[in-house]
Amino acid sequence: MADRALRGTHMGSTSLESEEGVVFVERQNVDFTCPSGHTFEITFAIDAEVPDTWECPLCSKVAIRNGVEDFQEEKSTKPQRTHWEQLMDRRTMEQLQILLDERLEVYRSGRRRPGGY
Ligand SMILES: [Zn+2]
Repeated sequence: MADRALRGTHMGSTSLESEEGVVFVERQNVDFTCPSGHTFEITFAIDAEVPDTWECPLCSKVAIRNGVEDFQEEKSTKPQRTHWEQLMDRRTMEQLQILLDERLEVYRSGRRRPGGY
């Protein structure tokens, strides 16, 4: 595979590792504050998924991203909820049964709207 890819290129005349044309990823600086009050900045790529916590480089405690002060409380009081539980918050079993019956009726009668769900 690698052999095939390199065949025909003029090694030496042009470097394949030239930085010309390389687009550097845009970056963002994210502030974290640890329980000891240390504030530090971590640089992430602009499209990176920024974590809510980061280990403090000074005291190794878990620092929390600035702007998510309620992170700890939220995590401890609210266990991970399933989609089903969230659905049950909004609908009762009776409502779901009605919705299901309606959908089944639509599918069975072939009255599905074009482009609809
Ligand atoms: Zn610290």
